[in-house]
Amino acid sequence: MIVKERKPPTRLLQTDALLKRLIPLNHPKRNAIEQDFKKRRAGYNGEKAVDYHLSFLTDKKYMILNDLRLPMTPDFFQIDSLLMTPHYSLPIEVKNIAGTLTIDPEFNQFSQMYKGVEMGYPDPISQANRKKLFLQRWFYNNKLPCPPIEFLVVFSNPSSILKMAHGHKRTPPYNKIIHAQNLVREISKLNAKYGKEENPIIDLKKTKKLLLNQHQEHTSSILETYQLQLSDIKYGVLCEQCSQVMKRLTGHWHCPHCNHTSKTAHLQAIEDYFLLIKPTITNRELREFLLLPSRRTSTLILQSLDLTRIGLNRGVYYMK
Ligand SMILES: [Zn+2]
Repeated sequence: MIVKERKPPTRLLQTDALLKRLIPLNHPKRNAIEQDFKKRRAGYNGEKAVDYHLSFLTDKKYMILNDLRLPMTPDFFQIDSLLMTPHYSLPIEVKNIAGTLTIDPEFNQFSQMYKGVEMGYPDPISQANRKKLFLQRWFYNNKLPCPPIEFLVVFSNPSSILKMAHGHKRTPPYNKIIHAQNLVREISKLNAKYGKEENPIIDLKKTKKLLLNQHQEHTSSILETYQLQLSDIKYGVLCEQCSQVMKRLTGHWHCPHCNHTSKTAHLQAIEDYFLLIKPTITNRELREFLLLPSRRTSTLILQSLDLTRIGLNRGVYYMK
């Protein structure tokens, strides 16, 4: 049973909005942002592919929480998917990497060979082991009995080839690295290993409540991350057909470039504002960002949105 659904990560949405609005077209940081976007999109798609396999575990004894980010002084730790049963806990680390992937236990690294280019990555086993230790500490900090914690590193790309480096066998812990299509089978093995216990160790209801309460979405300013200024951002409502700036006419938007008209094109622009600029907006800020002709139009648009109004008179601002 999935108790926390996966949503597109804010950082992915922010990078997407940034690429649409970054000016000029040949901005020196565009390439780096595009690379970051592609990496994050691949990561998200990989996680969704693994979700598909986990969706077969509909039994009530399974509790699945996707994309968890829990505080752990001095920082946070993040789990791609966490599966809990009354008898054990299983954090799953997802990798979406194409090509031939060679695990080298000697150097604690793995390398990717793709289209003739070799790239190195940190050892996923050490990464997953660290998550396991964090999770143990999480149970301890929350005064809960610590269940057995297993882990799996799941490669979501069905066409990638997993290999051990020359002279090494797939002995534990390297048997924890699997392809997504074998995930349910691995979970059945774990059920057989821990299923003999009669008394539950994990109170699923209580644990779920604590995990959901402590989960914190990652929020940061994307402009600060890339050291960009407001002047690097294209303002206005962008055409859904050709991405050029649209003009406000009575009750709708018109694109002078391709003649497209829309009644709702401002909704995406307001989403972009919240993703790129800040989580609050005033009437004036909306007017400036959407390039609106009057305060009245700005007021009408603000009233039509499902936003929370905060403050009084001249100090009024809105947020989602
Ligand atoms: Zn257009």
